[in-house]
Amino acid sequence: LFITFEGIDGSGKSTQARRLAEALAAEGRDVRLTREPGGSPGAEEIRSLVLEGDPDRWSAETEILLFTAARRDHLERTILPALAAGQVVICDRFADSTRVYQGVSRGDLRAKVDQLHELMIGREPDLTVLIDMDPDTGHARALSRRGTEERFEEFGPDLQRRMRAAFLGLSEEFPSRFRVIDGNRSIDLVAADVHRTVAEALA
Ligand code: C5P
Repeated sequence: LFITFEGIDGSGKSTQARRLAEALAAEGRDVRLTREPGGSPGAEEIRSLVLEGDPDRWSAETEILLFTAARRDHLERTILPALAAGQVVICDRFADSTRVYQGVSRGDLRAKVDQLHELMIGREPDLTVLIDMDPDTGHARALSRRGTEERFEEFGPDLQRRMRAAFLGLSEEFPSRFRVIDGNRSIDLVAADVHRTVAEALA
């Protein structure tokens, strides 16, 4: 089973991915927690290339290629082997992040994102948990965490609002695999909601 977590920066999705992994492991499931961009040694190298240093180093198109290359490596080396071994794979961000971040924030590149995905990835998660968060709260949280990161400067509150709308749009586009969870609550309440939702989907 392949589960992904998506959401805007500061939505708490990484915390929730970890909490779900712990909860499923406590039930005796064999869980593999991983993340994007990254999740395999090669993909982590690509992550550094894209996320560190001058944010204008790559064009939007080159960035899509780099994220897709990282995803391909992650899929080949980490995700598919883990699924083949019967593990539950929980991934913090996957292709939906590229659909939103590269497809929306950097111009209307969604069609190119989709074409590359079809050609090189061709795999969707079984279940996608969208942690929906008020964009202003998310932005404030993310700023306090990574205010010094140059790349983050462009992610103002207005962009956060557009990202949130784009994630919600994806949940309508792919309703069978998306579950939208209200992230504007305590970590424990959100974690309980995520766990219940995933358990229902597994049943
Ligand atoms: O989820 P995480 O905090 O690790 O994401 C790091 C950053 O990577 C995000 O803030 C976002 O700016 C960027 N990102 C991106 N395109 C993706 C995935 C992540 O621009 N496809």
